[in-house]
Amino acid sequence: MSQALRNSFKNEPLKDFSLEENRRGVLSALAQVESIIRSGGFTATPIIDGRLITTSDISTRTDPSNTQVVVGKTHFARTEDAALAISSCVSGLKTWGRRPYTERAAIIEKIGLLMRERANALTALIIREAGKTWREADADVAEAIDFCLYYAEEMLRLGPPHLTERVLGEENHYFYQPRGVVAVIAPWNFPLAIACGMTVAALVCGNTAILKPSEQTSLIAHEFAKLAYEAGLPAEAFSYLPGRGEEVGRALVESPDVSMIVFTGSRPVGLEIIRSASSVPPGQIGIKKVVAELGGKNAIIVDEDADFDDAIRGVLQSAFGFAGQKCSACSRLIIVGDAYEPFLARLAAATSDLVVSPALDPASFYGPVVDQESHTRITNLIASATDLTTLVQGTVPETLRETGWYIPPTIFRDVPLNHPVFREEIFGPVIAAVQAKSFNEALTIANDCAYALTGGVFSRNPEHLEIAKTEFQVGNLYINRGITGALVCRQPFGGFKFSGVGSKAGGKDYLLQFMEPRTITENTMRRGFTPDLNS
Ligand code: NAD
Repeated sequence: MSQALRNSFKNEPLKDFSLEENRRGVLSALAQVESIIRSGGFTATPIIDGRLITTSDISTRTDPSNTQVVVGKTHFARTEDAALAISSCVSGLKTWGRRPYTERAAIIEKIGLLMRERANALTALIIREAGKTWREADADVAEAIDFCLYYAEEMLRLGPPHLTERVLGEENHYFYQPRGVVAVIAPWNFPLAIACGMTVAALVCGNTAILKPSEQTSLIAHEFAKLAYEAGLPAEAFSYLPGRGEEVGRALVESPDVSMIVFTGSRPVGLEIIRSASSVPPGQIGIKKVVAELGGKNAIIVDEDADFDDAIRGVLQSAFGFAGQKCSACSRLIIVGDAYEPFLARLAAATSDLVVSPALDPASFYGPVVDQESHTRITNLIASATDLTTLVQGTVPETLRETGWYIPPTIFRDVPLNHPVFREEIFGPVIAAVQAKSFNEALTIANDCAYALTGGVFSRNPEHLEIAKTEFQVGNLYINRGITGALVCRQPFGGFKFSGVGSKAGGKDYLLQFMEPRTITENTMRRGFTPDLNS
């Protein structure tokens, strides 16, 4: 185990693309990805017990920035493949689950270090497969590395059994053991970071894991899987199982041999998983544990005395970074009192200045949404909101309209508080703005929400900031800054209410969810052993 892991965790720095050297690295990786695309594209197959499984259900992934381009193809697993993966992981528990925690941590650390070496290649594939801009793709890779190094270090802290108390005549040891086979079900919006983070957390604790990535981003998850084996992860510890959620995802959730499901995704699917995991099929040996990180409908409050320059930047970045497709994205804007009109005027001007461009463009801040389904859903939602007043809608350049899944940034104003645009997660580049009479009313509006994930306040009033700290009911509250981009360790991430159940990812409590704590109490007042009884 590298010494570097002991209490030395530092976040992976984000790349500064104003430096030519950093730009060159990604450009050359993009050129390599392009040459793979030209010669037929990437191919991913399920990997079970080290074997590549080909199937006849082949899913084609096109580039969201240019839908004429096929990035690659994935052989989707079938229900019977899920059964094979589960059985491989059940037997893997006997070996991987018994490996010393230091060895497991060393392998997870190695995965992180290999990702650091291949960061440009991973970034380039995320740009093409998920339609993330350079900056967003780079942050995705950096977060994945952080998860590996942080959880490896955390395992060193949690691994050794410890004495609970010193008492005469009795020893009490407290320690953790793995839960069993963990199904990891991931979303597409942080296609590497979240898939990797949930998987390595399960593995470092001694569980075996099956990664079911999102249908849209199976290729980058495949790169992660290959890299994990290369880092020394044994075949029986981990299976890569791309496929359809309703098919293989469901098969994993319903299996009696799966002990834990760690899910990040939408509220309806999360609730369905929690419901399904609570019914007990024959042969199941215990209660399934479910960790579910779900959606958000996150608000930023702009106070009357807010610094508008900061607030405009914070709102734009939080609402329109990755075209609003982040669980942490700002989608409700609550502006206090007289700040309403001047703030909206400046925000409207700044929004119309946003340039919509392909993710491939190094200067792109605002690219496409992930696929046709999202494009249709969000476009229809905007078009059907005829009862709302549009403050501003950006434009998609003529040349891009037919080439990719672009949606202009859109802001509605004076939105009724009971309107679905104000209440439901859209997961796209749409802001619903309202005016509040006072700061307290702004907080009441913000808290009247099914979700409690992120929230933000721009204010220079110390009293208001103190009230917000206690009263703003969100998992991650940001003051006078944007509300996305939580860093592993520094800003452990996750919400409550319908934003999910579980401890924050990238925080001190996260790994505890993947282990069963045990206590062993031994009476040490005994008068001696009786070795002859054992013979
Ligand atoms: P989704 O719920 O559609 O899919 C997530 C995963 O679940 C996919 O792998 C999918 O194949 C699988 N799935 C679908 N149906 C299933 C079923 N019946 N059984 C088992 N698995 C099934 O979500 P998405 O569109 O990929 O991601 C967007 C959502 O994720 C948004 O709601 C967003 O807010 C949320 N999200 C939350 C966080 C967080 O940390 N709280 C982070 C990222 C994304």
